[in-house]
This record gives sequence, C-alpha cells and structure tokens, in this order.
Amino acid sequence: MGGDTIAMSEGRTNAIEGAPPSNFIKEIIEEDLRTNRFGGRVHTRFPPEPNGYLHIGHAKSICLNFGLAEEYGGLCNLRFDDTNPTKEDIEYVESIIEDVRWLGFDWGDRLFYASDYFEQLYEYAEQLIKLGKAYVCDLSPDEIREYRGTLTEPGRESPYRNRSVEENLDLFRRMRAGEFPDGARTLRAKIDMASPNLNMRDPVIYRIRHAEHHRTGNKWCIYPMYDFAHCLSDSIEGITHSICTLEFEDHRPLYDWFLDVLGVYHPRQIEFARLNLTYTVLSKRKLLTLVERGYVRGWDDPRMPTLSGLRRRGYTPEAIRNFAERIGVAKTNSVVDIALLEHCVREDLNKRAPRVMAVLRPLKVVLLNYPEGQVEEVEAINNPEDPSMGTRKVPFSRVLYIERDDFREEPPPQFYRLAPGREVRLRYAYFIKCVDVIKDPRTGEVVELHCTYDPETRGGNAPDGRKVKATLHWVSAAHAIEAEVRLYDYLFTKPDPSDVEEGQDFTANINPNSLEVLPSCWVEPSLKGAPIGSRYQFERLGYFCVDPDSANGKLVFNRTVTLRDTWAKIEKAQRANQDS
Ligand code: ATP
Ligand code: MG
Repeated sequence: MGGDTIAMSEGRTNAIEGAPPSNFIKEIIEEDLRTNRFGGRVHTRFPPEPNGYLHIGHAKSICLNFGLAEEYGGLCNLRFDDTNPTKEDIEYVESIIEDVRWLGFDWGDRLFYASDYFEQLYEYAEQLIKLGKAYVCDLSPDEIREYRGTLTEPGRESPYRNRSVEENLDLFRRMRAGEFPDGARTLRAKIDMASPNLNMRDPVIYRIRHAEHHRTGNKWCIYPMYDFAHCLSDSIEGITHSICTLEFEDHRPLYDWFLDVLGVYHPRQIEFARLNLTYTVLSKRKLLTLVERGYVRGWDDPRMPTLSGLRRRGYTPEAIRNFAERIGVAKTNSVVDIALLEHCVREDLNKRAPRVMAVLRPLKVVLLNYPEGQVEEVEAINNPEDPSMGTRKVPFSRVLYIERDDFREEPPPQFYRLAPGREVRLRYAYFIKCVDVIKDPRTGEVVELHCTYDPETRGGNAPDGRKVKATLHWVSAAHAIEAEVRLYDYLFTKPDPSDVEEGQDFTANINPNSLEVLPSCWVEPSLKGAPIGSRYQFERLGYFCVDPDSANGKLVFNRTVTLRDTWAKIEKAQRANQDS
C-alpha cells in the first residue's frame, strides 16, 4: 500500500510538471492528491436512476467517472440511485448494467444500490431528529411549496417545525410503520427558511409512498429523497470525488450540510456541464415520451440517442469513448454538434469495417457481349486502410445491378457517371459502356441498361491508357443476396428540438422522414450469414450494421452514417477562419 502511494505520487509529480491536466476535475483531483485530502485515494461512482435507458449524455459521465478512476489508479462504483419506486423498473437496471459493460468499463464487485442502504439511511434520519435537525411536517405537498417562498421572498416556517424530539421520533416511526397515507406527512431537515438558496429551506428528506420497490418489495412505505440518499450513499461507499452535472451546484450546500451535521465521512462534490447535442433530446422523460407515444420503435430504436439505440445503429464503444474524450469537461453548458459524434464513428469504422459492395436502389444492367452462363471471380480489397484484412473474391457475370442514381439518361454538367454512350469503370472488374436504354413503355421509367464490356480492361485499367471519370459499385444479379436496408435521418428537424411555438411540446419538431426503409436491396454474396451487429462499409454509401430483425436468411441493415463527413468540413472551415 505504502509503496503504491509513493509510485503514484511520483507519477503525479510528472503530470503536474509536464503537460497540464486537460480538464478542471483532474486539477481538483491532483490538488487533493497533493494535499492528501483523501489519503491518496481516488474513488468515483456512476449513479444512474433506473427509470430509463442510458443515453449518450450518460456515456459522458460514465467515461469521466470510470476514466478518472483508471487514470489515477483508483476505483469506480456502479450504484443505482433507486429511491423512487414508482418510476423505476428492473428492465432499466438490466439495460444499464449491459450498457456500461458494453462501453467497456468494469466495476469489479462494486455494484451497489441505494436501496441496500435504506436501513442505514433511516438510522441517519432518526439521528437528525435526535440532534434537533429534522422534524415531521403535516403540511401537504402544495402547502410546502407555498410556504417555501420564492427567489425574491423568504419562506415561512412550518407550524410543525418546533415539535419536540420525542414527538418527531414517534411520528417518524409511525410513518415507517405505515400508519399514514401517501402525502399525509413528510420528514424535513430543519435548516433555514430564509436561506437565499431554496434547497436549504427545510427540504423534504422522507416521504410516504405505499408502493412496491423493485428490490425491497413492500418492506418500506417511506422513501428518502435524492439529496439525502445521494450524499450518504457516497459517504457509505467511501467515494472521494462525487462528480455530477451542473444543476446540482445549488444542491452542494445541502450535500455538505447532511454530512457535516451527521459528522460522517465527507466526499467532495464536483459539478460539470452536461452534454447537449444538436438535433437530439437527452432527457429520460422526453425519451420515454418518444417510446410511449410510438414515435420510435423502442428504447433501442436506431434513431434514439440511447446507448442501446446507438449500438443497434452500429456505433462502437470505442467511437463513443473517443467522442467523450474529445468533447472534454467544462464548467459551462454548451451544445455539441452531432456531426462530431458521427465523425468519431466514421473514424473508427473506417479503420476496422470491411468494405463490401451493395446496391440499395437497383437498376439492372445486361452486358450484351459477356458470355451467357459465364461467371468469373474478381479480387476485391477488404480494407485499403488495413492491408492485413486481406482480399476476397466477388462473382461477376452477365447481368448486374448498379445504383439507379449512377445513371442519367440526360446527364447534367459535372455528372460523370453512366449515361448513354458513356464508358465507366465497374470497381475491381471492367470498363463498361452504355449502348441502349430500356424503358417501361407505359411509364417511360428506365428499367434496364444494355451495355458492352471491354475484356481488355479486367481489373479496371485499360491497356491503351484511356481513362474514365467514374467508378461504380455493382453486384452480380444471380449471386447477390436480397436485403432490407433502413436509412435514418435526425429524429428532429431543428438543431434545438425544444425550440417550439407556445403551447407545443418538443414532439412538434419530430422529423416525419427520419426512417426510410428500402425493402429490396442487393448485397454481395460474401455477406451471407453475416452475424447480427457486424459492421461494414458499403462502398460509396456509408457504414451499415446488421440489425437483430434479420431472420430466415434475410438480412436487415441499419445505416450507421453516410461517408460524407460534415464535421471534417466544419473543422476545415474553422481552421480557415482562424488563419484569415
Ligand atoms: P434526467 O434525464 O431526468 O435529467 P438524469 O439524466 O439525471 O435524469 P440519472 O440516472 O440521475 O439521470 O443520471 C446518472 C448520472 O449521469 C448523473 O450523475 C447525471 O448527472 C449524469 N448525466 C445525466 N445526463 C447527462 C448528460 N446529458 N451529460 C452528462 N452527464 C449526464
Ligand atoms: Mg438524476
């Protein structure tokens, strides 16, 4: 232990003299290590309330808490803040455990529940009563609110504020015993009704709730409030740095008050700015609304900013962790451009996703001079970014599909892809030239192209050195497998979804076109049996991931992101601005 501490402090010295810590929380931790405030320990926690699925904002907090513990050789607990039985559910507990693990973090044997501490918290509450620092109040919730005053007006003292310790103890024990209905009484801290901080105006610390709890069943009918349970859970677990979002800054005096009055071990609360993302809502209440009202197919709908949604969409844990690292930690709220999140997943998938060919909106191409029944295999590179990923064989034959968008009967200027009389390259295969356009006689729609191929151009180069201006992806019609592809757009039409007219809520900004289903696409045969969750780059179309809806050999893909990197463009523009 002693040796560890020395080794650690040597590391810290370097950190202090070398590059400065990249966030203010690290500075605080390093200061605490220097002054030995917590005996050289760093112990954080991630404290979700199991009332919804985790989202990308939680990922920021998870990466921060687990990341700091890792960096300073400390520990991080996973603790469920399960003090509100009516909103919580075991389904949420299970999804949260799965998601934190998926992100790549490990809490060892330190999975805790605030409900495990209910008995101890109750004892602390009795202690407060005995110290004359808490009282049972008979005001209704509405009356409590009314007595509380406002930011400009002090509150009024409850008529029950000066009950004797004996009466308070008796009433509190009878609250626990179930003698009173919901809302009849509360236990309140006795602090200061004139405090400029509303949180200090005799806050409620216990309320009556005759509700079954997902862990403690019907053992309790009184439940502690968040502010009381949270600081004491931190204290019980020996947390050193209790990191939370900015809205708890005004609660910090209360956090400190409970611990000081009870004279127990005292962690340090530090607040940071929560993550906000453009085109995204990150409130569990709003996400629940989207699920309950059927705007999405569930918590794990690939359009949701939940970790389970992002996973289904094809995001990797590495991309999300990298995103969390890049956005950093600040003390003032801001909004992060969702393009940065997309940039992070592109960057990761670019390196590791095998490239394949798939045609989303097929147009049939017949090569008139290619022998009927002949099949040859062309060699394709799995990932030019990583030669160790090798090559594969892709079948080529007389009838192919290309992308409908890659042909124009009357090509506008700058359109270099296929058009009547024009020659293009088929990736890894041959040059082909369009010699005829077949149309549906009724609708005039182009239904098939007749082309010729140049056998001399095998591999995609002409021996005579002639050039083509476009290279198209394709699949062999006889060999390709059919697939459903789901394309996604943002769930909201506005960068700030809460920007609404009076009387509307955020659902007014829902994008009616956030999902486009393409039921009959064609993918190259190497994708046969691709496992659920596997990720690919479809050449020229983006990154795609196999959806769990795939069944009976029929593959379903979600598009994770397109290849177009708007973030890279933004960064380039920002740099140009700085230079000028
Ligand atoms: P709500 O969505 O109702 O605001 P919550 O996000 O506070 O709920 P919790 O389960 O209490 O949900 O959150 C667990 C932890 O994650 C808390 O420490 C909280 O501060 C942090 N957290 C929540 N949202 C964000 C966010 N957008 N950015 C960073 N951290 C967040
Ligand atoms: Mg919360």
